[in-house]
Amino acid sequence: MSDKTALLARRERLLGRNMSLFYEEPVHIVRGEGVWLWDADGRRYLDCYNNVPHVGHCHPRVVEAIARQASTLNTHTRYLHEGILDYVERLTATFDGKLNTAILTCTGSEANDVALRMAQAVTGRTGVIATNHTYHGNTAAVSQLSTRMPPVGGYGGHVRHVPAPDSYRPLGGAGGEVFAAAFAAEVEQAIASLQEAPHGFSALIIDPFFANEGFPDLLSGFLEKTVAAVRKAGGLVIADEVQPGFGRIGTHMWGHQRAGIVPDIVTLGKPMGNGHPIGGVIANADTLNAFRKAFRYFNTFGGNPVSCAAAMAVLDVIEEEKLVENASHVGEYTRAAFKALAEKHSIIGDVRGSGLFMGTEFVLDRATKKPAPELATRIINAMRERGVLMGKIGVHECSTKIRPPMPFSKENADLMLSTFDEVLSSL
Ligand code: PMP
Repeated sequence: MSDKTALLARRERLLGRNMSLFYEEPVHIVRGEGVWLWDADGRRYLDCYNNVPHVGHCHPRVVEAIARQASTLNTHTRYLHEGILDYVERLTATFDGKLNTAILTCTGSEANDVALRMAQAVTGRTGVIATNHTYHGNTAAVSQLSTRMPPVGGYGGHVRHVPAPDSYRPLGGAGGEVFAAAFAAEVEQAIASLQEAPHGFSALIIDPFFANEGFPDLLSGFLEKTVAAVRKAGGLVIADEVQPGFGRIGTHMWGHQRAGIVPDIVTLGKPMGNGHPIGGVIANADTLNAFRKAFRYFNTFGGNPVSCAAAMAVLDVIEEEKLVENASHVGEYTRAAFKALAEKHSIIGDVRGSGLFMGTEFVLDRATKKPAPELATRIINAMRERGVLMGKIGVHECSTKIRPPMPFSKENADLMLSTFDEVLSSL
């Protein structure tokens, strides 16, 4: 038996209390394959949470690509090498033609840090707008954008937060156009406030799928007015695709394509290397060159041949295994089943998402939509007890976050759904 008490004590002694663990009864994982994880006692768990092993835990194609390149050469990018060029060529071909150059990093945080600086270099201004329930990473600059844990010393005067869109409780009291206009009006107000300040307005940074905000169901044109307001003020739109990117949402390769907008800068991370640390910033060559005049970015590890081999293998598998199509079919099937379960369990107030990124929002009362965060925690832990791993998210921390590896099948979904039904029935 795994001695969790000893492991927990050792972890705290060596790593401090900095990183919290998932679940009341933490999971001691030792192996992964596809959508499955095994703990130290040999128990199998269905992984409905991890979006980083995008094409499946330990996919042999990615493992082989990493091993082959690691046994040939790994170095930084100040030498000529085709690996990074082949990868960027293949990657940028999936974007709108204007987004045709890239800087590679190791994490999503670095990518967003670079994106903010790029926007500053292009506009000569520093003001940034983000939503009030987002997370864009952990560098000093991007920590300024998150409201979950205010930065030491407070927010710089250059940041403005707008209310995160919540389709279940929409701004302005109604969905559709009214909601979109209300969000755009908030952004316009924030722009005006930055323009009055010494900082001026540089960029709006958003995840076009609003993943950390609880992935609201938004109309395709939801961001149109907002983007127009940003452009009118001479600002840039940064789309953080760290969570929705690489086809997870099923309808498109990128969240901004689903939202029907073309950003000026796109940032990437998490699923890009299937767990191998690689992130990136995609922009037009003019934007990248303006950045170079202001700041010469070099990252010792970003874009090294091993990372690029891993990332290339991820693109190969997405294509060969038709994983975007799979996300679309299995995602739709699962949401329909969740909606059927909502008929039976009144605690489910809302079911939403796209592709293999979805969740259910729990409420104490459907009429008042009173959030049920404690119940959500109980449900997530009960699912874990029954061998199904999922997470919790949302403005009110009362939604499940379901983002399994992309080869997730209907059979996997059935197991998750029947376990979910069992757990809700047991409450
Ligand atoms: N952007 C978003 C939307 C994220 O969710 C995260 C991580 N959760 C990041 C950026 C930061 O990425 P990383 O942890 O690789 O620095």
